[in-house]
Formats: sequence, structure tokens, C-alpha cells
Amino acid sequence: MANQINRRNWIKSSAMLAGGITFFSNSVSGLLAKPFNSLKRSFTVSDENVIPPTLPPTGLKARLLANENPFGPSAKAKKAIEAAMDTSYQYPFMYYGQLIDKIAAFEGVNKEQIFMDAGSSPLLLAAAMHFSKNGTIITADPSYDDLPKKAADLGGKIVHVPLTADYKLDLDAMEKSIDSTTSLVYICNPNNPTATVLDAAKLKAFCERVSKKTPVFIDEAYIDYLPNPQAVTLIDAVKKGQNVIVARTFSKLYGFAGLRIGYVVAQPEMLKTLSKYTQGSMSISATTLMAAIASYQDREFLDDALAKTMLSKKFLYETLKKEGYDYIPSSTNFVMFPLKMDGQKFTAEMMKRSVGVRFWKFNNKDWCRVSIGRMDEMQAFADAFKQLS
Ligand code: PLP
Repeated sequence: MANQINRRNWIKSSAMLAGGITFFSNSVSGLLAKPFNSLKRSFTVSDENVIPPTLPPTGLKARLLANENPFGPSAKAKKAIEAAMDTSYQYPFMYYGQLIDKIAAFEGVNKEQIFMDAGSSPLLLAAAMHFSKNGTIITADPSYDDLPKKAADLGGKIVHVPLTADYKLDLDAMEKSIDSTTSLVYICNPNNPTATVLDAAKLKAFCERVSKKTPVFIDEAYIDYLPNPQAVTLIDAVKKGQNVIVARTFSKLYGFAGLRIGYVVAQPEMLKTLSKYTQGSMSISATTLMAAIASYQDREFLDDALAKTMLSKKFLYETLKKEGYDYIPSSTNFVMFPLKMDGQKFTAEMMKRSVGVRFWKFNNKDWCRVSIGRMDEMQAFADAFKQLS
């Protein structure tokens, strides 16, 4: 026991020396154990992180159900992963500081304003654990429901605000829902599952006003799919000192969903709070960190993956149009369209044809969300879809 504590203190001070904010909480395992054991984790249609029980363990013809990027990870990342093998007996903390330095330099923030973890999910969970304790969380409906759902599982109160007629987050209605009990406003931009993006100036003005009353959490998982992420990101708001938490992930355009790394950018005091609920640097493998360092802002890879995604998306739009279906124009690597049959039946029939997609029910309709994959996957989707439409 004493050895464990000493080793932990040693790692803690070494990690802090390595740069970036690295917080450790002795109570983390205690905090995590109870909620996780008591969570009823059944599969629901909008939960990205839970594998459907019907999913074959290997090989779907088209895996279009989790908004992954099949064109990644980059060649540089793969090379770094190979090189990482020889030193994988070492703890990862020095790489943590290196990646933080890179992100801080690119985004123009202080390294004390970044906290990383094994994907953005543990950071969403940290926010859910913290903000469910002391008030109500406002979110859009439908939106990415990981944080609100976990907060509700932990006993928190959630206010769901319907989208506008053009399937965007209704910022005016969300602002009107704020009252003295509000502990957090959660904004997913671009939104999952509708793939819509908010007007950047409107969202920035919203954050400037609202963050004076309550923290605003902006989930930017899909921002890399926009033509100019730097013009849309709310990291600017953090730089201006606003009480805004921006979450980013390498799981999407970087193609790291299985490698697991993500981060939040926020005020250092807020990071100190959130870090009490999660392990941070000690949960990210050195392999993943080295791969992320090697491929961060690799424009050649990112632009190539974007171009391939756009081609596949164009093919999907044409398939849907040909079959007489509408769709919501997408700013991301997935497309949402209204079905003409029951969503559960549709996804089951598609799965029988080895095509994995997801469904939602809202606005009195059943909707399908198709992730954008390789051309052969989009072709497999089209072949199966033609049999059902
Ligand atoms: N945020 C959004 C909007 C997502 O769609 C996802 C995953 O699909 C995540 C966060 C979680 O991503 P990860 O934990 O892989 O970083």
C-alpha cells in the first residue's frame, strides 16, 4: 500500500514536470466504482458507445453505425504505433506533455487550459458526474445523449429542448430554459445525430451571455469535418476567459476511435474540478499518445480523408434521391434521413444484409442515421437499401 502511494506521488510529480495539467485523485476509483456498478447499461439507439447485441463480432460488409473514419488512422500514426512497441514498458506521461504542447501551440491556448483522456467519453462522464450533483442540465433533443444520459443515471435532472424546424439546436429556447437551478448547458456542434451546424456568430454570442450564468459545454467531436474549424470553434471563448468547456476527440476525422484519445479545453479551475472524476494522463496509452503526436494536424492525411468522405457522401445523397428519399444536408461524416418504415425493422433488415446503421424516433417519424464509409461500404448500403425502399 505504502509503495503504491509513493509510486503514485512520484508519477504525479513527474507528470507535472512533463508539462500540461495532470491531476490525480486518490478517490477516483471510489467515485467511479459505485456509479458504474449501479448504471443500467442497456443498448439504446442513440448510445454511440454500446455495441448492439446483434452486431457480428467480426466483419460487417458496411460498418455505418458509429461515425468512425475508415480512412484512418494516418500512415504517420501507424508508423508511430509500430515504433512505440519497444518502449511500451514505460509509463506514458512524457508523451502526454508533448501532445499538450502541440495542441496548445496550434490552438493558441495555455497548456494549463487543456486536459486529455482516453477519448472524450471519460470527459463527458466527468462532466456528467460533476454537474448532475448540483443542478439541472439543459440539452437539445435529439442530440448526443451520452453526457445527459449518464447524468440522469446518476440522479441528475435533465431538460430536453427540441430542435428548430431545420433540425438545428434551438439556442433561443435553450437560453430561455436557464434558471437558478441550471448547472450546465450541453451543446453538440455539429450536432449528432442531425449533422447540422450552428451559425458561429450566434453560438459565440450565446456563450458570451450564457456563460456568465452557467458553464457551457460545447462538444466539437465533428468540427474537423467543417471547411474552417478555426472559425467555428468555441476555443476562442475559453481564450477570452469565458466559462466554456470545449471537448474534442481524435476518434472522428483522425480515425482513432479504437486508439482512444480526446481532450477538453477550459479554464484551469474547471479542469481541476473535472479531473477529480477521471484519470487523465494515466488512462491514455503511450502508443496512442505517440500516434497522436505523429499525426496531429497532418493536413495531407486530413484533407485526403475529408475528400474521400465527401465523395462517399455525394454517392449516398444520390442513392437516397434516386430512391425518392429526403435527407438533412450534413456537415459531418454521417447523414440523417426520414424512413418510410419502422426504424427498428429497417435496421434489423439492413443488418441481415450485413449493413450496420442506426435509427431514431423524433418529430413523429422514424429516422435512419448512416455513417459515411468507404465507397464499397456505401455501395453495400445502396444495394441493401434498394431491396427495402
Ligand atoms: N461526442 C460526440 C458528439 C460523439 O458523437 C461521440 C462518439 O461518437 C463522442 C463524443 C465520444 O467520442 P470518443 O469517446 O470516442 O472521443
